[in-house]
Parts: sequence; C-alpha cells; structure tokens
Amino acid sequence: MIKPNPLLNLLVLLLCALPIAAQTQNPPPKNAPAPFMAPETSQAGHENFPPQLIEELAAIKAAALADDYAYRQVAHLTENIGPRPSGSLQAKAAVDYVAAELRQLGLDVHLEEVKVPHWVRGAETAELVEYAGQAAGANQKVVLTALGGSTSTPADGIIADVVVVNTFDELKSLGHDKVAGKIVLFNELFDKQKAAGGMAFMAYGEAVRYRGAGPKAAADLGAVAALVRSVGSADFRLPHTGFSFPAAIPAGAVTAEDADLIAHLAAQGAVRMRLTLTPQKLPDATSYNVIADLKGSEHPEQIVVVSGHLDSWDLGTGAIDDGAGVVVAMEAVEILQKLRLRPKRTLRVIAWMDEESGGAGSQAYTKDNSAEFIRTVAAIESDAGAAHPLGFDVKMSAHAAELLRPVLDVLQSFGANVVMPTSYPPGADIAAMSEAGVPALGLLQDGRTYFNYHHSAADTLDKIVPAELRENAAAMAVMGYALASMKDPLPR
Ligand SMILES: [Zn+2]
Repeated sequence: MIKPNPLLNLLVLLLCALPIAAQTQNPPPKNAPAPFMAPETSQAGHENFPPQLIEELAAIKAAALADDYAYRQVAHLTENIGPRPSGSLQAKAAVDYVAAELRQLGLDVHLEEVKVPHWVRGAETAELVEYAGQAAGANQKVVLTALGGSTSTPADGIIADVVVVNTFDELKSLGHDKVAGKIVLFNELFDKQKAAGGMAFMAYGEAVRYRGAGPKAAADLGAVAALVRSVGSADFRLPHTGFSFPAAIPAGAVTAEDADLIAHLAAQGAVRMRLTLTPQKLPDATSYNVIADLKGSEHPEQIVVVSGHLDSWDLGTGAIDDGAGVVVAMEAVEILQKLRLRPKRTLRVIAWMDEESGGAGSQAYTKDNSAEFIRTVAAIESDAGAAHPLGFDVKMSAHAAELLRPVLDVLQSFGANVVMPTSYPPGADIAAMSEAGVPALGLLQDGRTYFNYHHSAADTLDKIVPAELRENAAAMAVMGYALASMKDPLPR
C-alpha cells in the first residue's frame, strides 16, 4: 500500500466510492421523494439541529464568506515562511507560528513531538549524451527533479543507457538482462481527460503508482537509477516531485515533455544519459504536530478534529498542498471566537507534520492519543487544494451521513453540499482515526486544476483564489461547529 500520500488515499476512496454511491442511489429507497420534491429532514435531524443551532450555522457561514483570516494566514505561511519540508527550518518556523496564532485566538495549544525524516535536495541535472541524429558535440538537456528520499549519484553524475517502459508489466517482461546497469524511465501517462471531467484524483492514482513503486521495481532488476514521467496535468516543462518508496538508487521525475522526448529518441536507437542527483538524507529531526483545543461547553471530553497538514514539498511554497488546509482549520475556530460561539464539544485544530514524506505526524498522534479515539466524535481533513468546495467525502454509516442533511442545507447556497460516501479514509492524516471507527470527512474541492501545480515549483500563493478559500473556510467552520454542537454525537 502507498499510504503516505493522502492524494492516493483520496484516489482509492474515490475508486471504492463510486460503486457504493451507485448502490445507494440505485435502486431508489422505498418511499423516496420524487426528484422534483423537496427532501425532508427526518425527525432526528430536527432534534439534532434545533432552530437556534441552524441560525448559528448560518451566521458562521456568513462571517466566513466575508473573512480574510485564512488568506492572511496562508499568505504568511507561504510567502514569509516558505516551503516547509519535514525537518526544515521553515517547518520549524511554521510550527511556532501556527501555535502562536492559535494561542492568540485563546485556544489551549500544545506541541506533540514527532521524529521526522530529513532529506534535502541537491544538484539535479541531466542531459542526453548519445542518441540518434545527434549534432556532433552537442547534448540535449533534460529537465527533472529528485523524488523525495532519492539516494545520490556521485557529484559528477552517472552515465548509462535509458530504457523506456510504459507499465510495470513491460518492465517485468524486459527482465534483469535488459534492465541491469540502465536508467529506467517509466513513461506512464496522466489521464488529462479524467481530470477535465472531474476525476483528477483517479487520474492521479493511476499514474502515481509508478512514482511510488517504480524506483524499487527498477532497482530490483538491477537498474542504476529510475525516472518517472512527472505526475501532473499541465505541460509547462515543470517537474513534479513526491514520495517514493526507498529503492536505494537515485530516483527522479522528468517533465512530461522530456519523457516524450526520450521515448521518441529511444524508438530510434540507443539513448545514453548523464544523470546527476545529489540529495542528502540527514539524521531524523525533531518536529511537532500543532494541537489546539477550543474546549466544549457541555462535553469537553468529546472531540471533533478539524485539520490540514503543515509540511509541504520543497519546490513550491506549499500553498494548495497544504497550507490551505491548515488555514481553513484555523479559521474554523477564529470565526467562533469572533462570533463568541462556544461549541458543546471540544473543537480540536490539528496542523499535521510530515504528511508528505511518510506520515510520522499522524503515526505519533495515533500512538499518543488512540485512547481518545473512542470519544472522538468526528475528524475532518482538508488536503485536496483550495479550489471551490463541492462538499465532503465521508466515511461513516449511511445513517450518520443522513443526519447531516440540515448542515448540507446551510452549505447549499455556495454549492458545498455534496456528500460522497467512500469506503476509504478521506484523508491520510485522519486515516487511523477513520479505521478506528471515527466518522471521517474530507473537504471535497474542484480538483480540475489541482494537479497542474501539485508538488511542483508552481504550488504558490497566487494559485489560491481568495473567494474560493473563503468558501472552504466556511465549509470547514460550518461542518466543524455542527458536528461539535449537534444534540447527539454523530453515531458510528
Ligand atoms: Zn497534501
């Protein structure tokens, strides 16, 4: 399983979700209202959400849709602090900053220690030094970046033939004899039509398997290095990095254009590459999850988690992945403080550490807090960007999801009222809670352009549309407060 990547988790959940959604919708339940009739909230729904609570949810929505708190926070995280890879100075600064901001909101804040991998990027260059039709004495530059955890080549690089495959099966059929001593390029395609059709996470999941498992598969057949085609949906000759299982060989991602170039030349004859990647794996570093509680007025022992991950990749500044998720969770409590609303249950903001390079933060939280999972009423994570929210992926019983209808009615005015049932945890950092039975929700954003920028140097603040970020904050704040203040806790 390729667990460390939340997007993959999301993909798997979508893969699993579709048949379930189809099953629950087809055939329609007995006595279901005709499509042109207004859906009715059940008696339990009315009892759980009395008129005053509905008014409070409407006030939270209105305040969030007019609040620039989340945007100011993500601007600081990305522009003042910058990229926040695990173990970096910036990740440390971000922990201190978010903790201080949440203290300033009056929350009970603590830092939970996490040991994180510390990998730092080095030189990364490549050129084709032999290929059909080569101009005498000239080489062809290749644009690439190292994958997270990659080992290093010597400082002056390695020179080897490139073998291009499209699938794991092709690699396997080549066998050890044709792979050993070579650089393997996985030229898997990202299905842009799926992304354009609203199924970007499925396209990502299909392609990202090669980034995750390709280097190891190539190493097992004796390859000296592995390259993947960047997993992204726009072609501006930008490489996209990401997690890859340790393979003990240098591993990188070339741009889509360079993958096409190499495949084109390889079809005409031998292609030889000089590849230089000099990242370093340093000793594990000490870092932290930031955990901040707004204590509940009636059931402080019951917890609703709102969260995003604070670490990012190093190429961009981690705006859409996942500065946005952290700041909408922060705004969920900022709005309540501003409106002087106190939830019945404790609303817990978590800024997770190390989602991108192994999930050490969520593992530490599970180790330290699993005794609380039984009284954790629900957990939300936002880790799919900052674009217009459509609603939530949910892993919970159908009965529990049905109880949320009054909340969805509040969210409908700005379109964030879809509930997509999944069979997979809708967020990497809340996966352990979800697997322990905690009802889990992931903010579901319009993902059509997400993978244009994801894990690339272009994941920067300008990709966040302030009005869309406000909608995400509104969805998180309304749902968080609803789960924390509905009369009965959401059933498991
Ligand atoms: Zn992320």
